[in-house]
Amino acid sequence: MLTTYLLVLAMKNEMFLDKVIAKNPNEPEFIQAVEEFLNSVLPFINKNPKYIVSNILERIIEPERSIIFKVPWLDDMGKVQINRGFRVEFNSSIGPYKGGLRFHPTVNLSILKFLGFEQIFKNALTGLPMGGGKGGSDFDPKGKSDNEVMKFCQSFMIELSRHIGPNTDIPAGDIGVGSREIGYMFGQYKRIKNEFTGVLTGKSQNWGGSLIRPEATGYGVVYFLNEMLKFNKDTLKDKTIVISGSGNVAQYSCEKATELGAKVITLSDSSGFIYDPDGINKEKLDFVFHLKNTKRGRISEYSKKFGCKFYKNKTPWGIKCDVALPCATQNELTKSDAQLLVKNNCIAVCEGANMPCSIDAVDVFLNNKVLYAPGKASNAGGVAVSGLEMSQNSLRMNWSRDEVNERLKLIMSEIHQNCVKYGSSGEIVNYVNGSNISGFIKVADSMIDQGVV
Ligand code: NDP
Repeated sequence: MLTTYLLVLAMKNEMFLDKVIAKNPNEPEFIQAVEEFLNSVLPFINKNPKYIVSNILERIIEPERSIIFKVPWLDDMGKVQINRGFRVEFNSSIGPYKGGLRFHPTVNLSILKFLGFEQIFKNALTGLPMGGGKGGSDFDPKGKSDNEVMKFCQSFMIELSRHIGPNTDIPAGDIGVGSREIGYMFGQYKRIKNEFTGVLTGKSQNWGGSLIRPEATGYGVVYFLNEMLKFNKDTLKDKTIVISGSGNVAQYSCEKATELGAKVITLSDSSGFIYDPDGINKEKLDFVFHLKNTKRGRISEYSKKFGCKFYKNKTPWGIKCDVALPCATQNELTKSDAQLLVKNNCIAVCEGANMPCSIDAVDVFLNNKVLYAPGKASNAGGVAVSGLEMSQNSLRMNWSRDEVNERLKLIMSEIHQNCVKYGSSGEIVNYVNGSNISGFIKVADSMIDQGVV
């Protein structure tokens, strides 16, 4: 009787995606993230009836809360501008909601739900007590004056401050939100609440930030890559690496990969990519730091400065390399890009961005035995050090650079071990299965422990 009941439920699970699509129309990115997750966890769930009986899938894909609000602000001409603000508080079963804020004109509910959903399992993988959330706005900081960015951030925080707190929800940065934006938002939160607490991470070091937080996502990506290569008895030394993006994650991935003996030959932004066959050394990377973080210029200026090629409106995946690190944005690497990388003998792809590879691109990597790490495992270093920043804030202490860096390395290595534990079949490690199943077990079991949540 029970077997028949479970069989019926298991079959229902296979139709689960149709239900998700029907319930979340016009949310393609969210559906894509759920589909990728289901491909990994459904076979596992069907072998573990407690997850079927507790209807955990339906519970886990529904955000606990989605907040949408108006953000009015005055531009430098004195004109009222209106943007839309969001915070998706997805899952708090293992800790307070934690996840970044993205300011980009493409931001909408679908993108934030996909990011919040991924964040749940990523945060679980770090081993730290953090739930999953994500937020942001369709505000575009590009081309805005500092004054306009500040006015926007202050208005955004007036509403967001009602929903967040150091024990409730602790946002951080993401695309378009760096230390400048975190500073303006933190200042405003402090004025509204009259309290100095660790309500945001990614803060500057003078007022509660952690050493290594700016570097953490990029460094973590390279530590994870190193673990994958080590597991396959290989090293980073003399590997040629193609990176997309030139923001926070791309910059520090480039720095750490170069430090460990690899040669990075591309960086990009939304206007195209630069190809520097001699490699982006420290001096050249310092130029990129200044160009992108202070001057807020375009990556094409690199090619003018160092006399290399700039490919307008192109992505770098056709350039021959050993390793590819997509570090810009979602769905930036398609099936045909993946086929090009395979043709050019790329051996590893490690995601710095969230969901940069489409599902069919991932299939190409897996079918061709390319080592492939999904962002929820490989880019978890950022949120891990955010978790360490929260601990330091609670203790009212600062740890040294070395201490934080060593903890980050250890966390990335443990995430790798968990992926091996849950993703191995024969000699092959399927990091997609490993990361999804490992994160899922921790979150799902916590939800079951906590009753009907
Ligand atoms: P930044 O804003 O610092 O940089 C983003 C980079 O990606 C820029 O070079 C930007 O170019 C490029 N980019 C953004 N959108 C597009 C697009 N539609 N097409 C082409 N290029 C684009 O962001 P981060 O480096 O912080 O984030 C990059 C990725 O890493 C995101 O997916 C983010 O979610 C993920 N991530 C970030 C973490 C962090 O700690 N910062 C943690 C974990 C994941 P341009 O300037 O022209 O827009």
